[in-house]
Amino acid sequence: MSAVAAVGTASEQPVVRLEGVHKRFGALEVLRGIDLTVAAGTVTVVLGASGSGKSTLLRTVNHLEKVDAGIVEVNGELIGYRRSGRHLRELHEREVLRQRSRIGFVFQHFNLFPHLTVLENVVEAPVSAQRRRRSEVEPEARALLARVGLSDKAGEYPRRLSGGQQQRVAIARALALKPSLVLFDEPTSALDPELVGEVLDVIRDLAVSGTTMVVVTHEIGFAREVADRVVFLHEGTVVEEGSAAQVLDAPRHERTRAFLAKVL
Ligand code: ADP
Ligand code: MG
Repeated sequence: MSAVAAVGTASEQPVVRLEGVHKRFGALEVLRGIDLTVAAGTVTVVLGASGSGKSTLLRTVNHLEKVDAGIVEVNGELIGYRRSGRHLRELHEREVLRQRSRIGFVFQHFNLFPHLTVLENVVEAPVSAQRRRRSEVEPEARALLARVGLSDKAGEYPRRLSGGQQQRVAIARALALKPSLVLFDEPTSALDPELVGEVLDVIRDLAVSGTTMVVVTHEIGFAREVADRVVFLHEGTVVEEGSAAQVLDAPRHERTRAFLAKVL
C-alpha cells in the first residue's frame, strides 16, 4: 500500500467500533473486554468455539443485547445511548429501532415471516420500519430477489422453499434496508451440505461488491477466500486477529491452533 493510500485509510471512519465491551448473563461473563474495528468495505470473519461469545458479540452491534460496559459505535454513532455531558443516557426504543434498521442481520435459522410471501418478506421492513413507499420498495425488492437468484419465487411462501433458498431470501431481506453493515450469524450452519455453496456464493458476491460485513462462520475455506480480517474469539476475548493468511495459515495462539485443528 502506498503512503498516500495508507493515510487515506487511516483517516476514514470505521463502520464498526467496539471498545472495552463487556457483557454478562448472571454470573457468566460472556464478553470480557472486546475491542474491534471494522473498516468500510471489508469482510471480518469471526471464529471461535461454541459458547465463546460470537452471537452475543454480533447482537451487541445492533443492540439486541445491551452491553454492561464499553461502547459500540456504528458509523460513528453510539448504539443504544446518547452522550449527555460525561454520562450516557439510554435511547428510546424508537431511536434504537431506527439505528437497527440500518444494520442487516442474517440469522442461522433464516427467521423469515412464515405468513408472508417471499416478496412480502423483502418489502416488509423498508415499508414498516423505514416508512418508505411500497411502490418504490417493490421494484427494489424484485431486483434483490434477482440478485440472489430467486426471481421466480417472489410469490411463494417460505415453507415451500429449501433451506438454501430461504436463507437467500433472508439475505435479500437484510439488503432491502440498504444497510451500511450486514451481520451474519452462522448463515450456513443449519443447511444441508449440498445447499451451503449457493448461500456462500451470494455472500461472496456481496463481498466483491464492497458490502461491509461481519460473518460468524465455521467455513474456513470461505473465510480464507473472502475475509479481509479474521478474529478468533475464546471465552469472550479476542485472542488473535489478523489477515486470513496470518490467522488461518500461521496462527500464533495455541487456542487458535487447537480450534483450527478441529474444524479443518
Ligand atoms: P457462540 O455464538 O459463540 O456459540 P453465544 O454468544 O451464543 O456463543 O453464547 C455465549 C455464552 O453465553 C454461552 O455460554 C451461552 O449459553 C450464554 N448465553 C447467551 N445468551 C444468553 C442469554 N440470553 N441468557 C443466558 N446466557 C446466555
Ligand atoms: Mg452463536
